[in-house]
Amino acid sequence: MLQCTAASMGGLLLPNRLFAEEPVLPQYRGPNVIIVRFGGGVRRQECIANPQKTYCPYFLHKLVPQGVFFPRMEMSNSSDIETSHGQGTLFILTGKYDKFEDIENKPFSGRFEAEVPTLFEYLRSSFNIPVHQSLMINHEDRRQEEFYSFSNHKNFGFNYRSDVLSLYRYKVFLLRQQINSGKLDEKQLLMKKQQLAKLEGLDYRDVGGLQHSKKIDTFWRQWQNHYGASGFVNPRGDRLLTELSVWAMEKLQPKIMMINYNDPDYVHWGLPHHYTEGIKVIDMGMRRLHETAQRLPAYRDNTVFVIVPDCGRDDNRFMDVPYQHHFNTKSAREIFALVYGKGVPKGKVVDKTVDQISVAATIGGLMGIKTPHTEGDALEEVFA
Ligand SMILES: [Zn+2]
Repeated sequence: MLQCTAASMGGLLLPNRLFAEEPVLPQYRGPNVIIVRFGGGVRRQECIANPQKTYCPYFLHKLVPQGVFFPRMEMSNSSDIETSHGQGTLFILTGKYDKFEDIENKPFSGRFEAEVPTLFEYLRSSFNIPVHQSLMINHEDRRQEEFYSFSNHKNFGFNYRSDVLSLYRYKVFLLRQQINSGKLDEKQLLMKKQQLAKLEGLDYRDVGGLQHSKKIDTFWRQWQNHYGASGFVNPRGDRLLTELSVWAMEKLQPKIMMINYNDPDYVHWGLPHHYTEGIKVIDMGMRRLHETAQRLPAYRDNTVFVIVPDCGRDDNRFMDVPYQHHFNTKSAREIFALVYGKGVPKGKVVDKTVDQISVAATIGGLMGIKTPHTEGDALEEVFA
């Protein structure tokens, strides 16, 4: 095979830039997009079906009138498509249904790898956006979702990933800091290294996703100065996700951010109260995100919110544990979505069935990026 080397070309040296330099990408000037995964699975009944009995009154009464509302969004009814959190997250991010399998086929492990690009990759391969401005905010009980931040697609992948903020990442930051401090004796050092190796071992993608940029390290140092290292002072669960998101908006100014709320899923422990309280916590979180976007110049009048559940929940009153979502039942597929913010019409309710995998192409349209591997059509009412 002919090798095109300097030697084979008679010593002719071509300028390095022909081979080495990345293309210069344009600056991004479109709106910020904040995707709220109204997650841990919420169905219409407790959220939008009855305006007097909703557990998310701020969402329904204050936010919905500000945008285009899709009360009849659904997930695919194919028996291959599971109505669950990891799956729903990737359907939203990639715009394509897939029968995801855990990398070692371990039940409920959810260590998935998308075959087609996520929105983060489409955006960062189109515009000059540093990794710390493309963020996923992740729940402490869903560590597998830390690594949904890029796909395996050959033209995209790790180089165009999002970064992630979560309690898990903070623990990794703290352990590395302690190990490098020079203040530990041999026994302590060994223990901390073992703890770190255990956490790093959860990175099933294994291409360096736990390496953070300086900006993220600075973010965690500021967090540490405020909340300390004990973990007892900072909020937990979805309240923590809201806090991290607000801090991110203030200090990192992401252009795209997805917040993976999940508290309603504590209903798997058996108490309906866990589910409805979880919805209320997310409702308060959405209020705070909305108010933060109004307060900060980087976001005011220049942000679109996309609020969509990862999946719904079953409606089988005869189950020992109510509100499951693993059985592909009708109400587990029946979700909803709201898009509001810069350039999006207000007060519009689209009373037709639309599909969860349309969210990605819609966000692509809002941000001015091509999303060629999505399979759902963009929601045209958002652009009217
Ligand atoms: Zn669940």
